[in-house]
Amino acid sequence: MAGGWPVGGRWVSAAPHDRSMDLLDGLGRGVGELAARALDLALPALCAGCGREGEALCRECRPALDARLRQPAGVPVGLPGDIPSPLAQLEWCSSFTGVTRRALHRLKYAGDRRLAAPAGRAVGRRWRRAGVGGDVLVPVPASPDRVRDRGYDQAELIARAASGICGLPVWTPLVRTRTTIAQFDLDRRERAGNVAGAFAVRAASGGARLAGAWIVLVDDVMTTGATLAACGRVLLEEGALAVSAITVARER
Ligand SMILES: [Zn+2]
Repeated sequence: MAGGWPVGGRWVSAAPHDRSMDLLDGLGRGVGELAARALDLALPALCAGCGREGEALCRECRPALDARLRQPAGVPVGLPGDIPSPLAQLEWCSSFTGVTRRALHRLKYAGDRRLAAPAGRAVGRRWRRAGVGGDVLVPVPASPDRVRDRGYDQAELIARAASGICGLPVWTPLVRTRTTIAQFDLDRRERAGNVAGAFAVRAASGGARLAGAWIVLVDDVMTTGATLAACGRVLLEEGALAVSAITVARER
């Protein structure tokens, strides 16, 4: 048998782009990430905003997440009809710049889950102030691959922290049925196609529970709102009364 090697007691062929090679790549990356994460948590936290030692996000940087807190609900966001159908309301806490951007990047790509708490609390405060209607928070799910790599689903952590502030319970009825390309790599038209059909409601938590519920979707960043709208359509098809959405940040 030419061109192969033993892995875990089994002979693995060395065909290019073989799944086993992906698996090995994945294992190597996973171990590296775990080690990096363990190291991160062993060291004193550096603020994601300013780099100061002490907390994942220091008290001087935290207010950046509440940049819009005192703005009234329903602030015009530039264009008429800027709320993507079928969403009833769209809210966010801050623009996706500066401290907020750095904090969300670290939460999403550097494995620092501690940043979900300040981000989620900002979501809870903004919703308590600006939210109109809403019975339950529903995080937009990350793909299972990404949750496995990262060790957590950041939108779910954000929703749980928000729940402690705004008092709405968290449900997780949505699943991502396929991995999508990161939305920021795509233009507006491609974004809608990228997420169409990418979400479904879990069989075990379907219709009966969602029927008549006013859902508030929670996510880290919104760009065009295509992802939120795709989730909204699935939830309405399952009988939800209405779907609103709030994110930590909005990219423009
Ligand atoms: Zn700071």
